[in-house]
Amino acid sequence: MEQRRQVVGLFAIACFALPVVAQSANKNDAGAANVSYVRCGALLDGKSERARANVVIEIVGEKIEKVLDRAPADAANVIDLSGETCLPGLIDTHTHVLLQGDITAADYDEQLLKQSPEYRTILATVNARRALEYGFTTIRDLETEGAGYADVDVKKAINNGVIPGPRMQVSTRAMDVTGSYPLLGYAPNVPVPHGVQVVDGADGGRKAVREQIMYGADWIKVYSDRSYRVREDGVLDDIPTFTLEELKAIVDETHRERHKVASHAMALQGVHNSVEAGVDSIEHGNYIADEDVKTMAARGIFYVPTIFVGAYVAEGRAAAGAPVWVKMMAIHEDTFRRALKGGVKIAFGTDAGGFAWTVNPAKEFSYMVKWGMTPEQAIRSATSSAAELLGWSDQVGAIEAGKFADIVAVAGDPLKDVTVLEKVDFVMKGGSVVRRP
Ligand SMILES: [Zn+2]
Repeated sequence: MEQRRQVVGLFAIACFALPVVAQSANKNDAGAANVSYVRCGALLDGKSERARANVVIEIVGEKIEKVLDRAPADAANVIDLSGETCLPGLIDTHTHVLLQGDITAADYDEQLLKQSPEYRTILATVNARRALEYGFTTIRDLETEGAGYADVDVKKAINNGVIPGPRMQVSTRAMDVTGSYPLLGYAPNVPVPHGVQVVDGADGGRKAVREQIMYGADWIKVYSDRSYRVREDGVLDDIPTFTLEELKAIVDETHRERHKVASHAMALQGVHNSVEAGVDSIEHGNYIADEDVKTMAARGIFYVPTIFVGAYVAEGRAAAGAPVWVKMMAIHEDTFRRALKGGVKIAFGTDAGGFAWTVNPAKEFSYMVKWGMTPEQAIRSATSSAAELLGWSDQVGAIEAGKFADIVAVAGDPLKDVTVLEKVDFVMKGGSVVRRP
């Protein structure tokens, strides 16, 4: 029993995958049978600016061994993608596998009130599989929206090879202050679930950090603002949730425990407080003041802009009586362009789950390019830059020796037309083929 668990844990092979090669349990067994090759018409390695033509990736077990010009003459196990462009497995740094789209408050309330956490977890396993099949071999899942620590179990099931899915970093319950996060608007005598852990005070924040990390959180997620309105001067204003003192305590406690903080901050004060408190990533950042753009660039605080979800929910939320969501798109574009020019590190994140998982999150690429990134920059935001945000630069985000063999491929040239990334037709995770053209 113990032996079996060890082997499964070591390799985390998804059982569903068609293994390219037999994976051996012992590194010393790594012989010819454990070696495979992927022949690519072109390679974007996640780091260099240009594509390299006609490349062969040598894979031993679950890792990339070498990148070659051609396969050895006696090579067996060659996957021929000579008509395709290969890239590192994509990374989405802002997802919600426990959520099925919430354009309106009613959509959200319905999920928390009528679906048990167990049922939501079953749906999450389907979403994890979808993410992987779209080409996202790694995700950072930024809170379960009322489903407790279910993300820790989804991650565990993937790592143990029980279900297919991407490599995951998870943030469990997230935090917000009393009166700020749905479900809201119910009578005081009606107890309703909350989408977050409700936390007040600096000590309350520290305790919640300790608790969430104890139960498996890789990241701490905070909601730093709410209630958005456009001021007369065009600045997107908000109501900050946590005080600066509370945020600083949460960040300090998280960093003390060698973890990182992601802050949902969409507007002026939420972003400013988060930057001052020293968070590691700003999520959404629809409006960021010039002063905070400078601080983010100087301190290496990541910006995860999640553009597509804004466009996706804007019309629905406007129809439900919140036209601010439509105006926010123009403000967001201006912010994105200023952040890009100001040298802020930008990581690809989509908020998938905020929109239905049947929609491919890779649509985000086209928005990033429309708003001023080159396709190459947009791709790097979802590969090497995203890996840096996750602290996994030594494992994923590039195609080079020593990294996991997480490889995707598309027909066509993503540097000419980034939308081809919405049609990934080859996915390999850790040396195992998930999907073939
Ligand atoms: Zn989100």
